Amino acid sequence: MKKESVAIVLAAGRGSRMQSHIPKQYMQLGEKPLLYYALKAFQDSFVDRIVLVTAKGDIDYCQKDIVKKYGLHKVNTIISGGKERYHSVYQGLQAAGESDYIFIHDGARPFVTEEILLRAYADAQQYGACVVGMPAKDTIRIADQENFVESTPKRNQVWVIQTPQVFQSSLIRQAYSLLMAKEAEILEKGIQITDDGMVVETFTNQRVRLTEGSYVNIKITTPEDLKIAESLRVSLD
Ligand code: C5P
Repeated sequence: MKKESVAIVLAAGRGSRMQSHIPKQYMQLGEKPLLYYALKAFQDSFVDRIVLVTAKGDIDYCQKDIVKKYGLHKVNTIISGGKERYHSVYQGLQAAGESDYIFIHDGARPFVTEEILLRAYADAQQYGACVVGMPAKDTIRIADQENFVESTPKRNQVWVIQTPQVFQSSLIRQAYSLLMAKEAEILEKGIQITDDGMVVETFTNQRVRLTEGSYVNIKITTPEDLKIAESLRVSLD
């Protein structure tokens, strides 16, 4: 029987680093809102359904001006997210319904491709959990509190993590339930949860596989990223 896959696409961030009054996921890339591109990649893929997580006040806009306008019929649920990214993921998991695999993707990464989705899916099937990323091109230093170098990890072991991050559904649900149950403890320890692989690593015994993404699969965070994205869009067209 065909396994069912659901994508949770996250677009509930405020994007404060973009210095724009429009949230970055709705800024124009070419003729369309940035968020369209990630949704379209999942729409055209083997993934069965898409849950879109956005801010409460943007649900109607997403429904009318993105989902309906561009015929993205796999988006069958649009819900509001939470304060932190992991709250939004948790809401998405609650709304996702039954499935075998869950793809979690940042709506601010427009250049995800079917090739990347297929590689991640294959790894999730084989290993249970994977995060897409690429080997670091720059040397990474770990800083101490006073901005002096504390340590330098070996560059060939450093990966820069992207999305999608793909999991067996029961595994990611279990990990997120534990995170929410222990949230106060985590906050007290000052641990920052910035992606989903971390949640699985922290709360289960499951090892997380690194899957090759692409150097083009960038996240649009700051104004210069939008300029880079514009030239990538034109060159990829
Ligand atoms: O803030 P960051 O760039 O890590 O956000 C990554 C993705 O998560 C973005 O697509 C953003 O819209 C989403 N997000 C969310 N809910 C939050 C914070 C971020 O859906 N509370």
